[in-house]
Amino acid sequence: MGIILRYLACSFLYPLISAVPINDPFREWHRQSISKFWHISDLHLDPSYHITEDPTKVCFSSKGFPASDPGLFGDFLCDSPYQLIESAFRYMKDVDLEPEFIIWTGDSPPHVPIDELSTDIVISVISNMTHTIHQFFPQLPVYPALGNHDYWPQDQLAVNACEVYEAAATLWAPWLHSEALATLRKGGFYSQLIKPGLRLVSLNTNLYYSPNKVTVNVTDPADQLQWLEDTLEMSKQSMERAYVIAHVPIGYLPYAKNTTAIREHFNERLVDIFRNYSDIIQGHFYGHTHRNSIMVLLDRQGKPVNSVFVTPAVTPIRSVQEQYSNNPAVRMYLYNSQDYGLQDLWQFYLNLTEANKEERPTWRLEYAMTKAFDIKDIQPESLYKLALEFEVPQSKAFQKYFNYFMVSYNDSITCEDECKTVQVCSVRFLDNESYSQCISKAALFNA
Ligand SMILES: [Zn+2]
Ligand SMILES: [Zn+2]
Repeated sequence: MGIILRYLACSFLYPLISAVPINDPFREWHRQSISKFWHISDLHLDPSYHITEDPTKVCFSSKGFPASDPGLFGDFLCDSPYQLIESAFRYMKDVDLEPEFIIWTGDSPPHVPIDELSTDIVISVISNMTHTIHQFFPQLPVYPALGNHDYWPQDQLAVNACEVYEAAATLWAPWLHSEALATLRKGGFYSQLIKPGLRLVSLNTNLYYSPNKVTVNVTDPADQLQWLEDTLEMSKQSMERAYVIAHVPIGYLPYAKNTTAIREHFNERLVDIFRNYSDIIQGHFYGHTHRNSIMVLLDRQGKPVNSVFVTPAVTPIRSVQEQYSNNPAVRMYLYNSQDYGLQDLWQFYLNLTEANKEERPTWRLEYAMTKAFDIKDIQPESLYKLALEFEVPQSKAFQKYFNYFMVSYNDSITCEDECKTVQVCSVRFLDNESYSQCISKAALFNA
Protein backbone atom coordinates (compact mmCIF):
# COMPACT_ATOMS: atom_id res chain seq x y z
CA MET A 1 0.00 0.00 0.00
CA GLY A 2 2.88 2.30 0.90
CA ILE A 3 4.43 2.02 -2.55
CA ILE A 4 1.14 2.74 -4.31
CA LEU A 5 0.61 5.94 -2.33
CA ARG A 6 4.18 7.08 -2.75
CA TYR A 7 4.07 6.72 -6.52
CA LEU A 8 0.72 8.46 -6.73
CA ALA A 9 2.29 11.55 -5.26
CA CYS A 10 4.67 12.05 -8.15
CA SER A 11 4.07 12.06 -11.84
CA PHE A 12 6.91 12.16 -14.30
CA LEU A 13 6.86 14.31 -17.35
CA TYR A 14 8.55 12.33 -20.06
CA PRO A 15 10.31 14.66 -22.48
CA LEU A 16 10.78 12.44 -25.54
CA ILE A 17 7.19 12.21 -26.69
CA SER A 18 6.68 12.81 -30.35
CA ALA A 19 3.59 13.52 -32.36
CA VAL A 20 3.35 11.55 -35.57
CA PRO A 21 1.53 13.32 -38.38
CA ILE A 22 -1.56 11.60 -39.62
CA ASN A 23 -1.44 10.39 -43.20
CA ASP A 24 -2.96 12.79 -45.65
CA PRO A 25 -5.92 10.62 -46.71
CA PHE A 26 -7.31 11.09 -43.21
CA ARG A 27 -7.47 14.80 -43.66
CA GLU A 28 -10.15 14.33 -46.28
CA TRP A 29 -12.63 13.85 -43.43
CA HIS A 30 -12.24 17.50 -42.61
CA ARG A 31 -15.61 18.17 -44.08
CA GLN A 32 -18.29 20.19 -42.40
CA SER A 33 -20.66 17.33 -41.69
CA ILE A 34 -18.15 15.05 -39.94
CA SER A 35 -17.42 15.37 -36.24
CA LYS A 36 -15.18 13.26 -34.03
CA PHE A 37 -14.72 12.01 -30.52
CA TRP A 38 -12.13 9.97 -28.66
CA HIS A 39 -12.79 6.76 -26.77
CA ILE A 40 -10.35 5.72 -24.04
CA SER A 41 -10.75 2.79 -21.67
CA ASP A 42 -9.04 0.60 -19.09
CA LEU A 43 -6.12 2.87 -18.22
CA HIS A 44 -5.28 0.71 -15.15
CA LEU A 45 -2.52 2.89 -13.73
CA ASP A 46 0.01 0.87 -11.74
CA PRO A 47 1.82 3.47 -9.62
CA SER A 48 4.26 0.79 -8.40
CA TYR A 49 5.72 0.25 -11.90
CA HIS A 50 9.44 0.93 -12.02
CA ILE A 51 12.49 -0.52 -13.72
CA THR A 52 14.56 -2.57 -11.33
CA GLU A 53 17.03 -5.45 -11.38
CA ASP A 54 14.59 -8.01 -9.97
CA PRO A 55 11.92 -8.64 -12.65
CA THR A 56 9.45 -9.89 -10.01
CA LYS A 57 9.54 -6.42 -8.41
CA VAL A 58 8.81 -4.29 -11.49
CA CYS A 59 5.08 -3.98 -10.79
CA PHE A 60 2.59 -5.18 -8.19
CA SER A 61 0.21 -6.04 -11.03
CA SER A 62 2.42 -8.93 -12.26
CA LYS A 63 1.48 -10.58 -8.94
CA GLY A 64 4.99 -11.83 -8.22
CA PHE A 65 5.61 -13.21 -11.72
CA PRO A 66 8.69 -11.83 -13.46
CA ALA A 67 7.92 -9.01 -15.91
CA SER A 68 8.53 -10.23 -19.48
CA ASP A 69 10.54 -7.38 -21.03
CA PRO A 70 10.04 -4.27 -18.93
CA GLY A 71 10.81 -0.85 -20.38
CA LEU A 72 9.95 2.81 -19.86
CA PHE A 73 6.43 2.39 -21.26
CA GLY A 74 5.43 -0.85 -19.60
CA ASP A 75 5.42 -4.60 -19.86
CA PHE A 76 2.90 -7.13 -21.15
CA LEU A 77 2.57 -8.64 -17.66
CA CYS A 78 2.05 -5.26 -15.95
CA ASP A 79 -0.54 -2.53 -15.83
CA SER A 80 0.27 0.94 -17.18
CA PRO A 81 3.13 3.03 -15.88
CA TYR A 82 2.20 6.70 -15.66
CA GLN A 83 4.52 7.41 -18.61
CA LEU A 84 2.45 5.16 -20.86
CA ILE A 85 -0.82 6.88 -20.00
CA GLU A 86 0.78 10.28 -20.36
CA SER A 87 2.22 9.34 -23.78
CA ALA A 88 -1.28 8.36 -24.96
CA PHE A 89 -2.77 11.69 -23.89
CA ARG A 90 0.17 13.65 -25.28
CA TYR A 91 -0.33 11.96 -28.64
CA MET A 92 -4.09 12.59 -28.62
CA LYS A 93 -3.40 16.25 -27.87
CA ASP A 94 -0.54 16.74 -30.34
CA VAL A 95 -2.17 14.94 -33.26
CA ASP A 96 -4.96 17.52 -32.92
CA LEU A 97 -7.81 15.82 -34.75
CA GLU A 98 -10.35 18.35 -33.48
CA PRO A 99 -12.41 16.05 -31.27
CA GLU A 100 -15.63 17.40 -29.77
CA PHE A 101 -15.56 15.28 -26.64
CA ILE A 102 -14.04 12.18 -25.04
CA ILE A 103 -15.81 9.08 -23.76
CA TRP A 104 -13.95 7.23 -21.01
CA THR A 105 -15.26 3.81 -20.09
CA GLY A 106 -13.56 3.19 -16.78
CA ASP A 107 -11.12 0.92 -14.90
CA SER A 108 -8.40 3.22 -13.57
CA PRO A 109 -6.86 1.22 -10.68
CA PRO A 110 -4.36 -1.63 -11.19
CA HIS A 111 -4.99 -5.39 -11.10
CA VAL A 112 -3.48 -6.04 -7.67
CA PRO A 113 -4.56 -8.16 -4.68
CA ILE A 114 -7.47 -6.71 -2.72
CA ASP A 115 -5.39 -5.80 0.35
CA GLU A 116 -3.07 -3.63 -1.73
CA LEU A 117 -5.99 -1.25 -2.36
CA SER A 118 -8.70 0.47 -0.34
CA THR A 119 -11.63 2.78 -1.10
CA ASP A 120 -9.32 5.77 -0.54
CA ILE A 121 -6.65 4.45 -2.91
CA VAL A 122 -9.22 3.62 -5.61
CA ILE A 123 -10.63 7.15 -5.33
CA SER A 124 -7.15 8.68 -5.46
CA VAL A 125 -6.32 6.74 -8.65
CA ILE A 126 -9.59 7.86 -10.30
CA SER A 127 -8.78 11.37 -9.13
CA ASN A 128 -5.24 11.18 -10.55
CA MET A 129 -6.58 10.05 -13.94
CA THR A 130 -9.33 12.69 -13.92
CA HIS A 131 -6.80 15.44 -13.22
CA THR A 132 -4.43 14.12 -15.88
CA ILE A 133 -7.22 14.22 -18.48
CA HIS A 134 -8.14 17.74 -17.33
CA GLN A 135 -4.55 18.90 -17.69
CA PHE A 136 -4.28 17.64 -21.24
CA PHE A 137 -7.77 18.60 -22.41
CA PRO A 138 -8.93 21.54 -20.31
CA GLN A 139 -11.52 22.59 -22.90
CA LEU A 140 -12.94 19.22 -23.86
CA PRO A 141 -16.08 17.69 -22.33
CA VAL A 142 -15.41 14.18 -21.01
CA TYR A 143 -18.14 11.60 -20.40
CA PRO A 144 -16.98 8.82 -18.09
CA ALA A 145 -18.48 5.48 -17.07
CA LEU A 146 -17.41 3.53 -14.00
CA GLY A 147 -15.58 0.20 -14.36
CA ASN A 148 -15.55 -2.89 -12.16
CA HIS A 149 -12.08 -1.90 -10.89
CA ASP A 150 -13.24 1.61 -9.97
CA TYR A 151 -14.44 0.25 -6.66
CA TRP A 152 -13.17 -1.43 -3.51
CA PRO A 153 -13.43 -4.34 -3.13
CA GLN A 154 -13.28 -4.66 -6.91
CA ASP A 155 -16.45 -5.71 -8.80
CA GLN A 156 -18.74 -5.11 -5.81
CA LEU A 157 -20.29 -1.86 -7.03
CA ALA A 158 -23.10 -0.71 -4.76
CA VAL A 159 -26.81 -0.39 -5.55
CA ASN A 160 -27.10 2.88 -3.65
CA ALA A 161 -25.15 6.00 -2.69
CA CYS A 162 -21.58 5.25 -1.60
CA GLU A 163 -18.18 6.90 -1.24
CA VAL A 164 -17.00 6.06 -4.76
CA TYR A 165 -20.13 7.38 -6.52
CA GLU A 166 -19.95 10.52 -4.37
CA ALA A 167 -16.26 11.03 -5.20
CA ALA A 168 -16.88 10.42 -8.92
CA ALA A 169 -19.68 12.99 -8.90
CA THR A 170 -17.40 15.55 -7.26
CA LEU A 171 -14.47 14.85 -9.60
CA TRP A 172 -16.60 14.83 -12.74
CA ALA A 173 -18.79 17.81 -11.82
CA PRO A 174 -17.02 20.08 -14.37
CA TRP A 175 -18.21 17.79 -17.19
CA LEU A 176 -21.72 16.85 -16.07
CA HIS A 177 -25.00 18.66 -15.40
CA SER A 178 -26.65 18.54 -11.99
CA GLU A 179 -29.32 16.06 -13.11
CA ALA A 180 -26.61 13.64 -14.31
CA LEU A 181 -24.65 14.10 -11.08
CA ALA A 182 -27.75 13.25 -9.03
CA THR A 183 -28.17 9.76 -10.54
CA LEU A 184 -24.38 9.24 -10.59
CA ARG A 185 -24.37 9.79 -6.81
CA LYS A 186 -27.22 7.35 -6.28
CA GLY A 187 -26.32 4.50 -8.61
CA GLY A 188 -23.19 5.26 -10.68
CA PHE A 189 -25.06 6.02 -13.94
CA TYR A 190 -26.41 9.10 -15.73
CA SER A 191 -27.61 10.56 -18.99
CA GLN A 192 -26.92 13.96 -20.49
CA LEU A 193 -27.92 15.82 -23.60
CA ILE A 194 -24.44 16.46 -25.04
CA LYS A 195 -25.37 18.13 -28.33
CA PRO A 196 -28.72 19.32 -29.67
CA GLY A 197 -30.72 16.12 -30.10
CA LEU A 198 -27.91 13.79 -28.95
CA ARG A 199 -28.19 12.09 -25.57
CA LEU A 200 -25.33 10.22 -23.98
CA VAL A 201 -26.42 7.40 -21.68
CA SER A 202 -23.68 6.19 -19.31
CA LEU A 203 -24.67 2.90 -17.70
CA ASN A 204 -23.24 1.19 -14.65
CA THR A 205 -23.20 -2.33 -16.13
CA ASN A 206 -20.89 -3.39 -13.29
CA LEU A 207 -24.13 -3.90 -11.37
CA TYR A 208 -24.82 -6.83 -13.73
CA TYR A 209 -21.23 -8.15 -13.87
CA SER A 210 -21.10 -11.82 -12.89
CA PRO A 211 -18.64 -11.43 -9.94
CA ASN A 212 -20.76 -8.67 -8.31
CA LYS A 213 -22.21 -10.44 -5.24
CA VAL A 214 -24.18 -7.38 -4.11
CA THR A 215 -26.68 -7.78 -6.95
CA VAL A 216 -27.29 -11.55 -6.84
CA ASN A 217 -31.08 -12.02 -6.66
CA VAL A 218 -31.76 -8.32 -7.19
CA THR A 219 -34.23 -7.90 -10.05
CA ASP A 220 -33.31 -4.34 -10.97
CA PRO A 221 -30.15 -3.17 -9.15
CA ALA A 222 -30.32 0.55 -8.33
CA ASP A 223 -33.50 0.63 -10.50
CA GLN A 224 -31.20 1.25 -13.42
CA LEU A 225 -33.17 -0.85 -15.94
CA GLN A 226 -36.36 1.06 -15.20
CA TRP A 227 -34.42 4.32 -15.44
CA LEU A 228 -32.88 3.22 -18.74
CA GLU A 229 -36.27 2.44 -20.26
CA ASP A 230 -37.71 5.73 -19.00
CA THR A 231 -34.69 7.64 -20.31
CA LEU A 232 -34.83 6.05 -23.76
CA GLU A 233 -38.60 6.54 -23.94
CA MET A 234 -38.25 10.21 -23.04
CA SER A 235 -35.43 10.51 -25.55
CA LYS A 236 -37.62 8.95 -28.25
CA GLN A 237 -40.51 11.29 -27.46
CA SER A 238 -38.11 14.23 -27.78
CA MET A 239 -36.89 12.94 -31.18
CA GLU A 240 -33.35 12.56 -29.84
CA ARG A 241 -30.59 10.16 -30.85
CA ALA A 242 -28.60 8.29 -28.20
CA TYR A 243 -25.08 6.94 -27.67
CA VAL A 244 -24.86 4.26 -24.98
CA ILE A 245 -21.58 3.94 -23.10
CA ALA A 246 -20.67 1.51 -20.30
CA HIS A 247 -17.74 -0.50 -19.03
CA VAL A 248 -18.82 -4.16 -19.10
CA PRO A 249 -20.25 -5.01 -22.54
CA ILE A 250 -23.47 -6.73 -23.45
CA GLY A 251 -23.38 -9.88 -25.59
CA TYR A 252 -21.07 -12.89 -25.53
CA LEU A 253 -17.32 -12.77 -24.94
CA PRO A 254 -15.36 -13.25 -28.18
CA TYR A 255 -12.76 -15.47 -26.49
CA ALA A 256 -14.79 -17.65 -24.09
CA LYS A 257 -17.46 -20.02 -25.37
CA ASN A 258 -21.01 -19.62 -24.03
CA THR A 259 -19.95 -16.81 -21.71
CA THR A 260 -21.55 -13.42 -21.27
CA ALA A 261 -19.65 -10.77 -19.31
CA ILE A 262 -22.79 -9.71 -17.47
CA ARG A 263 -25.15 -12.26 -15.90
CA GLU A 264 -27.14 -13.94 -18.62
CA HIS A 265 -30.60 -12.81 -17.47
CA PHE A 266 -29.44 -9.20 -17.28
CA ASN A 267 -27.97 -9.57 -20.77
CA GLU A 268 -31.37 -10.75 -22.05
CA ARG A 269 -33.08 -7.76 -20.40
CA LEU A 270 -30.63 -5.25 -21.81
CA VAL A 271 -30.70 -6.73 -25.31
CA ASP A 272 -34.48 -6.56 -25.15
CA ILE A 273 -34.50 -2.91 -24.11
CA PHE A 274 -31.92 -1.99 -26.76
CA ARG A 275 -33.97 -3.75 -29.45
CA ASN A 276 -37.02 -1.77 -28.42
CA TYR A 277 -35.13 1.49 -28.77
CA SER A 278 -32.72 0.56 -31.55
CA ASP A 279 -34.18 3.26 -33.82
CA ILE A 280 -32.89 6.05 -31.60
CA ILE A 281 -29.61 4.40 -30.47
CA GLN A 282 -26.82 5.29 -32.88
CA GLY A 283 -24.04 3.32 -31.20
CA HIS A 284 -22.89 1.35 -28.17
CA PHE A 285 -19.39 1.87 -26.75
CA TYR A 286 -17.90 -0.48 -24.19
CA GLY A 287 -14.52 -1.49 -22.71
CA HIS A 288 -13.51 -4.08 -20.07
CA THR A 289 -12.31 -7.01 -22.23
CA HIS A 290 -9.15 -5.02 -23.10
CA ARG A 291 -9.42 -6.36 -26.64
CA ASN A 292 -10.89 -4.90 -29.82
CA SER A 293 -14.17 -6.40 -30.99
CA ILE A 294 -17.42 -5.51 -32.70
CA MET A 295 -20.96 -6.78 -32.40
CA VAL A 296 -24.07 -6.16 -34.47
CA LEU A 297 -27.37 -6.16 -32.62
CA LEU A 298 -30.08 -7.82 -34.72
CA ASP A 299 -33.78 -7.22 -34.18
CA ARG A 300 -36.17 -10.11 -33.54
CA GLN A 301 -36.45 -10.69 -37.29
CA GLY A 302 -32.68 -10.86 -37.76
CA LYS A 303 -32.26 -7.41 -39.27
CA PRO A 304 -29.13 -5.48 -38.17
CA VAL A 305 -30.22 -2.52 -36.07
CA ASN A 306 -27.33 -1.34 -33.86
CA SER A 307 -23.53 -1.19 -34.05
CA VAL A 308 -21.73 -2.22 -30.87
CA PHE A 309 -18.03 -1.49 -30.25
CA VAL A 310 -15.70 -2.82 -27.58
CA THR A 311 -12.57 -0.68 -27.48
CA PRO A 312 -9.15 -2.07 -26.57
CA ALA A 313 -7.35 -0.99 -23.40
CA VAL A 314 -4.55 1.46 -22.77
CA THR A 315 -3.00 -1.09 -20.38
CA PRO A 316 -1.12 -3.90 -22.16
CA ILE A 317 -1.51 -6.36 -19.25
CA ARG A 318 -2.24 -10.03 -19.70
CA SER A 319 -2.27 -12.71 -17.06
CA VAL A 320 0.49 -15.33 -17.14
CA GLN A 321 -1.88 -18.08 -18.35
CA GLU A 322 -3.23 -16.00 -21.23
CA GLN A 323 -1.87 -16.64 -24.70
CA TYR A 324 -2.40 -13.15 -26.01
CA SER A 325 -2.37 -9.56 -24.96
CA ASN A 326 -2.92 -6.19 -26.59
CA ASN A 327 -0.73 -3.25 -27.44
CA PRO A 328 -1.83 -0.01 -25.75
CA ALA A 329 -4.65 1.63 -27.72
CA VAL A 330 -6.84 4.72 -28.04
CA ARG A 331 -9.63 5.19 -30.55
CA MET A 332 -11.40 7.93 -32.45
CA TYR A 333 -14.92 7.77 -33.92
CA LEU A 334 -16.17 9.85 -36.82
CA TYR A 335 -19.84 10.64 -36.96
CA ASN A 336 -22.27 12.61 -39.02
CA SER A 337 -22.90 15.85 -37.17
CA GLN A 338 -26.47 16.07 -38.52
CA ASP A 339 -27.95 12.68 -37.63
CA TYR A 340 -25.13 11.40 -35.37
CA GLY A 341 -24.77 8.23 -37.48
CA LEU A 342 -21.33 6.62 -37.11
CA GLN A 343 -19.11 6.89 -40.17
CA ASP A 344 -15.75 5.40 -39.25
CA LEU A 345 -13.35 4.52 -36.50
CA TRP A 346 -9.64 5.14 -36.38
CA GLN A 347 -7.70 2.81 -34.13
CA PHE A 348 -4.43 4.22 -32.77
CA TYR A 349 -1.84 2.19 -30.91
CA LEU A 350 1.62 2.06 -29.45
CA ASN A 351 3.90 -0.83 -30.42
CA LEU A 352 5.04 -1.39 -26.85
CA THR A 353 8.08 -3.54 -27.68
CA GLU A 354 9.34 -0.94 -30.15
CA ALA A 355 8.61 1.98 -27.80
CA ASN A 356 10.58 0.35 -24.99
CA LYS A 357 13.47 -0.47 -27.29
CA GLU A 358 13.67 3.04 -28.73
CA GLU A 359 12.84 4.65 -25.39
CA ARG A 360 10.38 6.78 -27.30
CA PRO A 361 6.60 6.33 -27.62
CA THR A 362 5.66 6.44 -31.30
CA TRP A 363 1.87 6.26 -31.29
CA ARG A 364 0.42 5.72 -34.74
CA LEU A 365 -2.69 4.79 -36.66
CA GLU A 366 -3.24 1.02 -36.67
CA TYR A 367 -6.14 1.12 -39.14
CA ALA A 368 -9.18 3.05 -40.28
CA MET A 369 -12.10 0.64 -40.21
CA THR A 370 -13.82 1.53 -43.52
CA LYS A 371 -10.54 1.37 -45.39
CA ALA A 372 -9.16 -1.76 -43.71
CA PHE A 373 -12.36 -3.75 -44.34
CA ASP A 374 -13.60 -2.01 -47.46
CA ILE A 375 -16.96 -0.98 -46.00
CA LYS A 376 -18.74 2.30 -46.63
CA ASP A 377 -19.35 3.21 -42.99
CA ILE A 378 -19.63 1.51 -39.59
CA GLN A 379 -23.43 1.43 -39.44
CA PRO A 380 -25.27 -1.83 -38.58
CA GLU A 381 -25.79 -2.88 -42.25
CA SER A 382 -22.08 -2.53 -43.03
CA LEU A 383 -20.96 -4.39 -39.90
CA TYR A 384 -23.46 -7.14 -40.67
CA LYS A 385 -22.00 -7.65 -44.16
CA LEU A 386 -18.54 -7.75 -42.63
CA ALA A 387 -19.67 -10.33 -40.04
CA LEU A 388 -20.88 -12.58 -42.89
CA GLU A 389 -17.52 -12.16 -44.60
CA PHE A 390 -15.74 -13.28 -41.40
CA GLU A 391 -17.63 -16.58 -41.51
CA VAL A 392 -16.21 -17.66 -44.88
CA PRO A 393 -13.45 -20.31 -44.44
CA GLN A 394 -9.94 -18.78 -44.57
CA SER A 395 -11.51 -15.34 -44.60
CA LYS A 396 -8.78 -12.72 -45.02
CA ALA A 397 -11.09 -10.17 -43.40
CA PHE A 398 -11.36 -12.36 -40.30
CA GLN A 399 -7.59 -12.85 -40.08
CA LYS A 400 -7.18 -9.10 -40.16
CA TYR A 401 -9.97 -8.66 -37.58
CA PHE A 402 -8.29 -11.18 -35.26
CA ASN A 403 -4.93 -9.43 -35.53
CA TYR A 404 -6.65 -6.14 -34.64
CA PHE A 405 -8.48 -7.95 -31.81
CA MET A 406 -5.06 -8.07 -30.09
CA VAL A 407 -4.08 -4.59 -31.33
CA SER A 408 -1.37 -6.10 -33.58
CA TYR A 409 0.25 -7.79 -30.58
CA ASN A 410 1.40 -10.84 -32.52
CA ASP A 411 0.28 -11.69 -36.06
CA SER A 412 1.68 -15.21 -35.87
CA ILE A 413 -1.13 -16.22 -33.49
CA THR A 414 -3.98 -17.66 -35.53
CA CYS A 415 -7.61 -18.28 -34.68
CA GLU A 416 -9.27 -21.26 -36.35
CA ASP A 417 -11.91 -23.91 -35.62
CA GLU A 418 -13.43 -23.37 -32.19
CA CYS A 419 -11.51 -20.13 -31.60
CA LYS A 420 -13.04 -18.74 -34.79
CA THR A 421 -16.52 -20.10 -34.04
CA VAL A 422 -16.55 -18.37 -30.65
CA GLN A 423 -15.36 -15.13 -32.25
CA VAL A 424 -17.80 -15.04 -35.15
CA CYS A 425 -20.86 -16.21 -33.17
CA SER A 426 -20.22 -13.39 -30.69
CA VAL A 427 -20.30 -10.77 -33.46
CA ARG A 428 -23.83 -11.37 -34.71
CA PHE A 429 -25.65 -13.07 -31.83
CA LEU A 430 -26.15 -11.24 -28.57
CA ASP A 431 -29.03 -13.17 -27.01
CA ASN A 432 -28.97 -16.69 -25.62
CA GLU A 433 -31.25 -18.32 -28.19
CA SER A 434 -29.55 -17.07 -31.34
CA TYR A 435 -26.03 -17.45 -29.89
CA SER A 436 -26.65 -21.08 -28.84
CA GLN A 437 -27.99 -21.86 -32.31
CA CYS A 438 -24.87 -20.39 -33.89
CA ILE A 439 -22.58 -22.45 -31.64
CA SER A 440 -24.46 -25.72 -32.24
CA LYS A 441 -24.65 -25.13 -36.01
CA ALA A 442 -20.87 -24.61 -36.05
CA ALA A 443 -20.38 -27.80 -34.01
CA LEU A 444 -22.39 -29.75 -36.63
CA PHE A 445 -20.42 -28.13 -39.41
CA ASN A 446 -17.06 -28.90 -37.76
CA ALA A 447 -18.02 -32.49 -36.85
ZN1 LIG B 1 -10.00 -3.36 -17.33
ZN1 LIG C 1 -13.16 -4.13 -16.29
